[in-house]
Amino acid sequence: MSPEPQLTDAFGRTIDYLRVSLTDACNLRCVYCMPKDMSFMPSQEKLSVEEYKRVLPLFVEVGFRKFRFTGGEPTLHPQLIELISFTASLPGNPFCALTTNALKLKDLAQPLAYAGLKRVNVSLDSLDAERFDRMARGPSLEQAWEGVLAAEEAGLDVKLNAVMVRNLNEEDLIPLARLSMEHAWQIRFLEMMPFAEQTHFQNTRAMENQSIQQRLETEFGPLEPVRTGLDGEARVMRIPGAPGELGFISPVSEPFCASCNRMRLTADGKLRLCLLKEDELDLRAILRTGGTDETLLDAIRTGIRRKPWGHELSHNRFALNRSMNQIGG
Ligand code: SAM
Ligand code: SF4
Repeated sequence: MSPEPQLTDAFGRTIDYLRVSLTDACNLRCVYCMPKDMSFMPSQEKLSVEEYKRVLPLFVEVGFRKFRFTGGEPTLHPQLIELISFTASLPGNPFCALTTNALKLKDLAQPLAYAGLKRVNVSLDSLDAERFDRMARGPSLEQAWEGVLAAEEAGLDVKLNAVMVRNLNEEDLIPLARLSMEHAWQIRFLEMMPFAEQTHFQNTRAMENQSIQQRLETEFGPLEPVRTGLDGEARVMRIPGAPGELGFISPVSEPFCASCNRMRLTADGKLRLCLLKEDELDLRAILRTGGTDETLLDAIRTGIRRKPWGHELSHNRFALNRSMNQIGG
């Protein structure tokens, strides 16, 4: 199988990046992501390993070059290593990354690197054990930190993602940014987005990246731009002289829809066309009713053509059908 030329959507954007959710379940309950009493999908709803192995090569065939495994918490999937190894060995050796809370990385980082994983994006919102507990509703800062160090040790590219929440982890802003002076990591500040049942909390406690950057510049002096344009979705800056970088991901205050190159596959097999829109195509239904590869390929191509321009958060239009753990970020 040789990959087709890459496909563009109706707005001329090349779509070549798939975020693959392996589960909606998680070993944490971050306040901005899901309610405390969240219940998760029964396992028969989720794609099986065989189903992932059936569809992922088809995405490569239509030109996808980058895959990010996510969740819920993807490290809870018992065959994560097998799926990474399978995907990284597909034609063209697609770039494979993982978004994780790092709790299980201490043991998994090295085998994941051997399997072909290149990068981990670790969600770490606080460097203070008590605030970490309050944010993640789980006492696990030390375990997460060991996971991050294991990823670095395994030679994986490390990016840290922090969602800053008013009156919750504001005090972590400077210590988190300071990590970029000690490690060659990118520390990314991610604006909180509204989803499903969490919209009131998210809309009242979100912090805009402009104010975050101002606070950082008050502490460290003017930040240097590292490159023109975005790195993925992040505007990248540096504290002068630091080995690491600071990334600002601002979907709410500075939407980057014009350069969006991605779609999402949820753990229940829906192709979600935009993170912040409800429109989805049901690939699982095709898989489970004996659909051919050609039917699946047609559905993926249709999804690319149907991808909406972008979100409408500024008009208070939110996607309410899933919380973030059910999409994957
Ligand atoms: N469990 C993994 C983790 O936390 O990295 C992967 C899944 S998590 C849903 C993916 C990303 O979404 C994380 O970086 C998390 O911080 C982010 N996230 C969750 N809810 C969010 C929200 N309401 N707004 C912005 N980012 C959010
Ligand atoms: Fe779990 Fe990630 Fe959501 Fe936190 S952000 S509850 S770690 S899925």
